[in-house]
Amino acid sequence: MANGPLIIVSGPSGSGKSTIIERLLAEETRPLHLSVSVTTRPPRAGEREGVHYHYWPRERFDREVRAGMFLEWADVFGNGYGTLKQEVEPHRQRGVGVVLDIDVNGWRQVKRQCPEAVSIFIRTSSPEELERRLRERGTETEESIQRRLQGARTELSQAPAYDYQVINDHLDAAVAEVRAIVRPLLERQQSHG
Ligand code: 5GP
Repeated sequence: MANGPLIIVSGPSGSGKSTIIERLLAEETRPLHLSVSVTTRPPRAGEREGVHYHYWPRERFDREVRAGMFLEWADVFGNGYGTLKQEVEPHRQRGVGVVLDIDVNGWRQVKRQCPEAVSIFIRTSSPEELERRLRERGTETEESIQRRLQGARTELSQAPAYDYQVINDHLDAAVAEVRAIVRPLLERQQSHG
């Protein structure tokens, strides 16, 4: 059986990326797995171990990096984030599509190892809209907001190198656009399987 497709989704904090991915997974009938990343940051209110992330102490994270457990990893806003090989490879080998919600550093590393990966960059049409959403979310301190806005500028400069850019000004339209990119990949997979 051919490997399941690998789909990388990046986008600045506040771009609505997580909501779009959630909707995509809820609505997709073909097999699709969202890779649960490891992070060293503490859980936000409402986040759960093993669902949103695996929350590891820095020491364990660094140890597993050295042991080669990660497909990719990066420091984002001062915390370690990484994709475990185990969250990707066994699923793809069974023909299941895998979605990675990772930053631009992660995308660069995965692209090198898996050139067949399809990459999607989610953005808002303006930086002002991004700032408005970050503030509205109410989960970040002012310092964290400023850091994320600065991070967004860096991430946005990489967007043109992605296979697709999706503007999320209207959630339904953005979800439909992402679905239209992902669905043919899953259909092709099924017809090969
Ligand atoms: P948050 O702390 O808001 O959940 O995530 C912050 C950033 O880290 C987001 O841009 C997200 O895409 C990125 N991120 C989450 N998991 C991973 C991962 O496993 N690897 C990399 N490189 N970035 C990640």
